[in-house]
Amino acid sequence: MILVTGGAGYIGAHAVLALLQNGHEVLVLDNLCNSSSASLERVTRLAGRRPQFVMGDVRSRPLLDKLFAAYPIDAVMHFAGLKAVGESVREPLRYFETNVSGSVTLCQAMAHAEVFTLVFSSSATVYGESETMPISESAALGLPTNPYGHSKLMAEHVMRSVAHSDPRWAIGLLRYFNPIGAHPSGLLGEAPKNIPNNLLPYLLQVALKQLPALRIYGDDYPTPDGTGIRDYLHVVDLAEGHLMALNRLRKQPGISTWNLGTGRGYSVLEVLKAFEKVVGKTMPVCVEPRRSGDIAQCWSDPSKAREELGWESKRDLNCMLEDAWRWQCLNPNGYGADAMAV
Ligand code: NAD
Ligand code: UDP
Repeated sequence: MILVTGGAGYIGAHAVLALLQNGHEVLVLDNLCNSSSASLERVTRLAGRRPQFVMGDVRSRPLLDKLFAAYPIDAVMHFAGLKAVGESVREPLRYFETNVSGSVTLCQAMAHAEVFTLVFSSSATVYGESETMPISESAALGLPTNPYGHSKLMAEHVMRSVAHSDPRWAIGLLRYFNPIGAHPSGLLGEAPKNIPNNLLPYLLQVALKQLPALRIYGDDYPTPDGTGIRDYLHVVDLAEGHLMALNRLRKQPGISTWNLGTGRGYSVLEVLKAFEKVVGKTMPVCVEPRRSGDIAQCWSDPSKAREELGWESKRDLNCMLEDAWRWQCLNPNGYGADAMAV
């Protein structure tokens, strides 16, 4: 059985679905601080069977000990965490407590239960502002520009030290680039509780007139059209990457790092144009100053994941945008009251 922390969230729910569809038993632990258990009802509908669910906090050692004693868990996927960059600047301690202490507590409980296989949600943010593109796993780790980024880097350090302390550990640090998109059924997707910070969720709400206009944060970057470039990746591809990492870790202990990205960058204006094509109308936009802490460009070299995991992204930008738009139209309020009936 796989314990999936944060499994009710955006990426976690897609991973839970992929695990169930591949024959795994799944136990989700989530405190629902940024999600709803409705996502797991949708997962159940899609998979034809139900993951086990415990509402609780990954920082609670007594709870974790109980779960490891009660269920036949043999590996963990650790998604539980806080991810809003701006919020992390205002509330750094909450971020370090959840993302770093939560990871420490989880590793302690795993070691106690002698469960040593762990797949961790890290982020390309640990590279900071890299000088060379594309970014490979051997690139120097940068100086993250905010407490969220620091918390991810610190959690990576914790896991690296833990893995070096005992050869039974098998840990995969998955450095995600920019996950977007939704399940093609329109049943699962990103459901931000507040005004979104990320480009695509914001754009989706502009398209439904839930927000007035897209604010383009800077058109004076040293990029071909002046707007920021990112490596957008379909969330279903990302979920599949977790299964492949788990398979690899079962055969190869130690600690490994894999970039999960497409290897191709798109600027804000390129995403906007592609999205306007999908929606069939132009979006209201305004150009604003650069957002503090943003970098000009960031895209992956995903060849290590291809060679070692046999993973590569299959879904292109158009597919990501079409799936995201379908999700948003069917669920204008996320998993809330007006969401499509399940
Ligand atoms: P999300 O907010 O949708 O999911 C996180 C889940 O963790 C939520 O369901 C939340 O309720 C749960 N959670 C938070 N604190 C918890 C706690 N203390 N105990 C138990 N559950 C808790 O976010 P997501 O986009 O699915 O991200 C999942 C992971 O991937 C996070 O660790 C995030 O930092 C990382 N990540 C995300 C992105 C991205 O762009 N979405 C990029 C890189 C890395
Ligand atoms: N961006 C933007 N307007 C928004 C949100 C984001 O112009 O409302 C830009 C941002 O400056 C960056 C890109 O879109 O160049 C991706 O931003 P996002 O927050 O989605 O990802 P991250 O910056 O964390 O990689």
